[in-house]
Amino acid sequence: MNHIQQSAFDLVAGLKAGQFSAEEVADSFVRQIERHDTAIGSFLRFDGQQALQQSRTLDGSENKRDGLAGIPIAIKDVICVRDQVTSCSSRMLESFLSPYDATVVEKLRQSKAVMLGKTNMDEFAMGSSTENSAFQPTRNPWNPSHVPGGSSGGAATCVAARMAPLSLGSDTGGSVRQPAAFCGVTGLKPTYGRISRYGLVAFASSLDQIGILAHDARDTALLLNHCVGHDPRDSTSASVAGEDYLAGLGNSLEGLKIGLPREYFNEGLNPEISASLDQARATFEQRGVQFVEISLPMTSYGVATYYLVASCEASGNLARYDGAHYGLRKTLPAENRDRSENELLRMYRQTRSQGFGPEVKRRIMLGTYALSSGYYDAYYLKALKSRRLIQDELKQAFQQVDLILGPTTPTPAYKTGEKSANPLDMYLGDIYTVIANLAGIPAISFPAGFSAEGLPIGLQLQGPAFSESRLLQATHAFQSQTDWHQQDPQMTPAGDPS
Ligand code: GLN
Repeated sequence: MNHIQQSAFDLVAGLKAGQFSAEEVADSFVRQIERHDTAIGSFLRFDGQQALQQSRTLDGSENKRDGLAGIPIAIKDVICVRDQVTSCSSRMLESFLSPYDATVVEKLRQSKAVMLGKTNMDEFAMGSSTENSAFQPTRNPWNPSHVPGGSSGGAATCVAARMAPLSLGSDTGGSVRQPAAFCGVTGLKPTYGRISRYGLVAFASSLDQIGILAHDARDTALLLNHCVGHDPRDSTSASVAGEDYLAGLGNSLEGLKIGLPREYFNEGLNPEISASLDQARATFEQRGVQFVEISLPMTSYGVATYYLVASCEASGNLARYDGAHYGLRKTLPAENRDRSENELLRMYRQTRSQGFGPEVKRRIMLGTYALSSGYYDAYYLKALKSRRLIQDELKQAFQQVDLILGPTTPTPAYKTGEKSANPLDMYLGDIYTVIANLAGIPAISFPAGFSAEGLPIGLQLQGPAFSESRLLQATHAFQSQTDWHQQDPQMTPAGDPS
């Protein structure tokens, strides 16, 4: 039997009831990866033998009914897995073997999940299309000439193409939700601090959060249950206790108030996405939700604020890649050296100019510039003030409404190469997602339709801090009434006649 169409929730139930073995499950996903990943490019490293071995051992052990026992999962290559390369899709870390597991990986091991491999991403999670990977492109399974979104492009596509039922991504400004929207899957960015960041390679520490990609809200809740919890090794980890996110999923939405921000509906919003929003509103109304028009005028400052804060933090975080500690070290052969130049500075320069790709360099330069004396007040400090106003505005909004509904992205997935020459154009696509990171609040993207071209459309719900349960309940209710999340792309494996 092939198990790729089953939800993680049903796989857990079937494994617990002894209807099939972990090895059969792993075998289905391994075969799907072998068949389709050459064309899609989700995985940077995939070890089918290891996954099969792990599931066989599990089948023969007493632990085979533990938490996530036998459920295959893919990990974005920005999350450390012990003794494995964690490259962040960068030449800089191409040969970096992590000496430890991220806390979230440790938790998944305790839950007995089966690790499939590491997924492709934009270098150091900087990007919205996965075109910034130093190693390979990732294609959108719905149409290979379109981008999968980013930076968690591999994480979204492996779920969309049913090569993994679940995957972990990271979201600093939308990197879980935007690829989820582009690929027709569900993507949750939890509250800042909800999942430990220990072992998540830092991009912008005050914004980074590990997130979940899955087919639906129920599978997201299932995985979230196994990821949350306070971690003394991450000083920003929340001390708020985790909940059983599956328990309340079926709760009624009767009386729930959802806000629709006026500013989200402007000429930049694609009309097909706007139409999906109207439809979604009607679906929610049938479940007893009341809609309220609200105003979030700070929305228009989101992208500028985010790109300043994120780049400033990145310029500091990426200073550690200097050739001395991690991965790459570049020096010149003795005969080519200019004797007057300082040896150490030369190594830094060689390493950083060869190890980082163009987008990462752009962000480091932008961040260093905005933090430098004379510009700090005009850029970084101003961005911090704007961030505060964004946070205050949302706090006020959540006194009026329980959740906020809007688009995840202004357009469906664009073509590969369409925006890579114009970074600003690409940055502007993050308008709806960056706000949640700046405010530290949770947000979820869920499938809500298709464009005329057959590309998925995603919508986003945002809620106040630690409202993951409510976000998942609302999404689950929507998914009980719609089947957008159950649609599969038609894929032609590489080598097969099309
Ligand atoms: N697209 C955004 C950026 O390029 C967000 C990236 C992310 O969330 N990691 O910075």
